Order: sequence, then C-alpha cells, then structure tokens
Amino acid sequence: MAERLVIAIDGPSGSGKSTTSRAVAQRLGLSYLDTGAMYRAVTCAFLDAGVDPSDAEGVTRATLEAELAISTDPDDQWVSVNGADVTERIRSQEVASVVSAVSTLAACRANLVARQRAIMDAAPRGIVAEGRDITTVVAPDATVRLLLTADPEVRMARRRLDLGGAVEAGALADQVLRRDADDSRLVNFTTAADGVIHLDCTYLTLEETIQTVLDLVAAA
Ligand code: C5P
Repeated sequence: MAERLVIAIDGPSGSGKSTTSRAVAQRLGLSYLDTGAMYRAVTCAFLDAGVDPSDAEGVTRATLEAELAISTDPDDQWVSVNGADVTERIRSQEVASVVSAVSTLAACRANLVARQRAIMDAAPRGIVAEGRDITTVVAPDATVRLLLTADPEVRMARRRLDLGGAVEAGALADQVLRRDADDSRLVNFTTAADGVIHLDCTYLTLEETIQTVLDLVAAA
C-alpha cells in the first residue's frame, strides 16, 4: 500500500497558503485541513456565548466545549460550531479582529491541536494541512513541510483580493500585519524550523507556487 502523504504548510496571513494547499490537495486527491477555520469557528462560539475577548477563562471554556465539525473535502469546504454553519461568518472582520483571543491562549491551542491531529490521522489517503504551527507543532513528522512566505505588500494585496477588493486600508492592515504580530507571540511562522523548506512566493504566480509545491512533493 502506498505511504500516506502528509503535507504541512505554514506561513503568515496572505502568503497564499490556503489557496495553494487546497489546490495541491485537489490535484493529488488528498484531504485538506484549514486549521485557521477552526480557530475562527471557536471565535464564533465565544462571541455567541457573550464572552468578552479579554476574558481568558471564558474563551478557554468556550473553546474546550465547542462542538466543532469541519469538512476536509477540498472541493466542498464548510465548518460548523455548536450546530450552526459558520462557513461564511468566519471570514467576517468581526471574527478576524478577535480570533487572536483564541490563538494566543496556550490551553485553546492545545485543545485545537489535539483535534487537528485526530482529523489528520483519519484522512484515508493523506492530507494537506495548513496553519501557523502545522510544520512545527501539529505535524512535525509530515512527509513534506513547507513555510510559504511573501513580502508584506504582496500579502496585503492578496488579502485585499480575497476580501473582494473593497476593503478599507486600516481593516486590511489589521487582517494581515496586526494579526501576524499577535499570532507570532506564541508561534514562530516567519522562519523555517529545521527540516522545513522555505518557499518565498513574492515573485511567483499562484500556478507557479502550486507547481513548485507539487515538484517538492514528488521529490520527497
Ligand atoms: O489562516 P487564518 O487567517 O484563517 O487563521 C486565522 C487565525 O487563526 C490566525 O490569525 C491565527 O490567530 C490562528 N491560527 C493559529 N494557528 C493555526 C491556524 C490559525 O494560531 N494553525
């Protein structure tokens, strides 16, 4: 039987890791896990419970108690929390602006990392998983580990496109630069750890980035 392929991709906001990871999963017939969607979904849970983002105990309780379900089909992505579909809502500025309340708490990270490992282990043919700490914490033994980066101006431009173009400069900087600064307090996703391949895609098109990843996987 062929070896199960686990591809781990991390990197900062707007580096293109979600789009690249999903495309690689589609082309290789693998599952796909967007771990950021899980942090965003539990953010919906604590907001719905009326918990203030600064209330660490409340945010932790909401995370540990959250009933979380997430699709690993790269062609049909959805996520739900406590029975409500939050696929669209997790992309809102309301959620993006406070998701760091979850990701900066070690107890919340530990809970989500355990759920992510279980999902990855259950993927029948293998999986492409992406998120800030995938190569270092969640899947340090992955077959291929990649850090995808791009210069900040390029990342902001890509995030603007993701958000449909009509986004105010302050909100964009909040979504990319402020969030990365907050996130980097607990996770290092700007330099490649030992054994992690660094791919700077500042000057690569999306297709070139996808192809480079596929070549690296083929070589592994
Ligand atoms: O990747 P995405 O922008 O959807 O991630 C949303 C947030 O979730 C990040 O800003 C970060 O705070 C958190 N996150 C994380 N670790 C991951 C994935 C996401 O801390 N593996």
